[in-house]
Amino acid sequence: MATVDVITTIIRRNRPGTKAADMYGWPDEPFEEMDSTLAVQQYIQQQIRADYTNIEAILESPEGQDEGVWKYEHLRQFCMELNGLAVRLQSDCTPSTCTQMTATEQWIFLCAAHKTPRECPAIDYTRHTLDGAASLLNSNKYFPSRVSIKESSVAKLGSVCRRVYRIFSHAYFHHRSIYDEFENETLLCKRFTTYVLKYDLMAKENLIVPMDETQSPPPPPPHPLPDDSTDETAMDSEA
Ligand SMILES: [Zn+2]
Ligand SMILES: [Zn+2]
Repeated sequence: MATVDVITTIIRRNRPGTKAADMYGWPDEPFEEMDSTLAVQQYIQQQIRADYTNIEAILESPEGQDEGVWKYEHLRQFCMELNGLAVRLQSDCTPSTCTQMTATEQWIFLCAAHKTPRECPAIDYTRHTLDGAASLLNSNKYFPSRVSIKESSVAKLGSVCRRVYRIFSHAYFHHRSIYDEFENETLLCKRFTTYVLKYDLMAKENLIVPMDETQSPPPPPPHPLPDDSTDETAMDSEA
């Protein structure tokens, strides 16, 4: 008599040809049972899919989780999702409409993806910065492991945050309808803002996209000093 093996292994993978509606259709897994080296990423993505509006739950680290790895994996996830905003911006943000990377009238942000930081059009800045962030975060030299990360490498996360945040602020101040549509679907800027504040990765005064809908953007202080003068230049000749 033939026996039938019941296969109970759940494959948590989107096979080629899976329809968008059927993607990620596998059951959730408790973090303690995730045994791959990519467990933290898997867990973060699972939390986002469960409820992208529950930012507190998404940023709540599982007990005993290494904090450096936790911060690192979240930043990887932000960069991946930010590509979605970059794609939408392309329809509206071109080298002729936005010749420089700006948010408010205060700073022109220089693109750090080149040997010498230089002025790139906003859409190029966006691409170059996301590519630069991806290659740093995937670098074998600084991030050889996804299980433990050296403090000196964790220290690099802040400048990545500061640079990629400018993509949100450019979108907000120059392409508001694209920003709003994306933010309504993802709450990515809200999650990013909560994340950088929670882990002290950016100075509060640099977070210029208002988070409370009823709040109008805070007027920028008259002449703040940039926190890293190598990739910011004031439009104002005094600074
Ligand atoms: Zn633009
Ligand atoms: Zn560039």
